[in-house]
Amino acid sequence: MNDSISRRDVLTRTLPGLALAGAMAGTPLAVMADATAETHAAGPLATAFKDGAYVLPPLPYAYEALEPWIDAQTMHLHHDKHHQGYVNGLNNTLKALAAFNDPATPENAALLAGLEEDLSFNAGGHLLHTLFWRTMAPNAGGEPPQLLADALAREFGSVASFRTRLARVAAGVKGSGWAVLAHEPMADRLLVMQVKQHDMQLAATAVPLLALDVWEHAYYLKYQNVRTDYVKAWWNVVNWPEVEASLVASRGRKTGQA
Ligand code: MN
Repeated sequence: MNDSISRRDVLTRTLPGLALAGAMAGTPLAVMADATAETHAAGPLATAFKDGAYVLPPLPYAYEALEPWIDAQTMHLHHDKHHQGYVNGLNNTLKALAAFNDPATPENAALLAGLEEDLSFNAGGHLLHTLFWRTMAPNAGGEPPQLLADALAREFGSVASFRTRLARVAAGVKGSGWAVLAHEPMADRLLVMQVKQHDMQLAATAVPLLALDVWEHAYYLKYQNVRTDYVKAWWNVVNWPEVEASLVASRGRKTGQA
């Protein structure tokens, strides 16, 4: 068993919540980070994974590309420092957890519990940020394309009421977290869900389509304490075609792989 397989194995067994990311394989999300046939074969967490370790996927646009809505300095710090921190944390946590594969490793419930928490935090951080960069784009925003607009209207009454819902859920995050639009494939429903910190409090097997980061590091330099202004501005950078492509891919997997 090579190192990368054992790491994936550990992750799969120890973090059932990440099973939802499994549904991401083969989506537009999965092609980021210089994906090769080998990394695709690596499965769910191949989105930003290379040579046996998780890697920081490059931003799909320039740091200043989301100006004036999101400033370049925030993007530099957010991508290069914060996201990189979760990537490093995930790799280090998995390395530490690998010691538990050895039957000779002494039982240490507290250590294991702490590592599990680190795993959830860093894996969630890595996956959500990977999604976050892809679901924004320069010269974006506006109205979603028809298929997505219809799906949003079916679930939330209208696109406008979906926006209101996501904004309210984002505003309601206590401290650090996310508002996420996810597709639940069993019932083909769209769910708006709140994520605390980076812990994926999503329906198991639901596929996150769009993620709005409302950690202060995402907006404080420009918007200070006024999160609602950041969320209002954020609609101008939403990459709707990417969100729609993820929905189509998720629906396709339902019939193709169920
Ligand atoms: Mn963030």
